[in-house]
Amino acid sequence: MRKTRKLDVACPNKECRAFNRVGLKNIVRNGKQPNGTQKYRCIDCGRNFVRTINTPFFHKHLKKSQITTICRHLAEKNGFRAIARITGHHLDTVRTVASVVAKHCKKFNDYFITELKLTPVEVDEMWSFVKKKKKIA
Ligand SMILES: [Zn+2]
Repeated sequence: MRKTRKLDVACPNKECRAFNRVGLKNIVRNGKQPNGTQKYRCIDCGRNFVRTINTPFFHKHLKKSQITTICRHLAEKNGFRAIARITGHHLDTVRTVASVVAKHCKKFNDYFITELKLTPVEVDEMWSFVKKKKKIA
């Protein structure tokens, strides 16, 4: 059976001719990981990769929803031990997730400051705006 080609995923291989270009129909689905993450293969360069590459969800055994729950508790300023008790995960797991997410947020901020030439104050203002406009569920 022919596999459906994905249009909203780009090849992460820097040497590939389709690097970072969406909509070339060069990505096919290629199974799933045990935690449910979709795996893909680029038919131009033959590289296998997962959807979560370059995100805090990459290379984690936890499900996406579990990591999101930990992040939500971190945003509410709960302590690491409190989050471990609430979610039932190990303390080291919570610390690892926190450190990975912090590194990712720093990369995000650096992008805004260096690539888009914003000042740290402007970036801070932008996040305040995002936080204010967030839907309350
Ligand atoms: Zn490729």
